[in-house]
Amino acid sequence: MAFATIVKEFTFDAAHRLEGHCGHCKNIHGHTYKLLVGVYGEIQNQPGSTNDGMVLDFDALKQVVNTEIINKLDHQFINEILPFQPTVENIAVWMVRVLRRAGLQLKFVRVYETPTSYVEIEERDVPVE
Ligand SMILES: [Zn+2]
Repeated sequence: MAFATIVKEFTFDAAHRLEGHCGHCKNIHGHTYKLLVGVYGEIQNQPGSTNDGMVLDFDALKQVVNTEIINKLDHQFINEILPFQPTVENIAVWMVRVLRRAGLQLKFVRVYETPTSYVEIEERDVPVE
């Protein structure tokens, strides 16, 4: 019996502004966000099953993340979509909650706001509501 974390990468483009922020992020601007989703689980040992030798089919993971996150945020103005200050930290917490609710055995999400700046949150760091 072995366990593993599988990770899939996504990108989306979106605009936001940070209300009350004193830096240049107070103005509306856009980012190409990169999202890494890590799912943890046992590598299934079920010869003959479609998921034999996998934690989770990457295609199934892709469909969940596209439905729950990418299709909602891509090419949107995040301030009009999400009811909180849209920092990358808060966006990552929201993603953990959404993906947990969708039934993924999440390990972490990592969200890049720029190629050199990202937030990583472990599933256990977000309290269950
Ligand atoms: Zn920004």
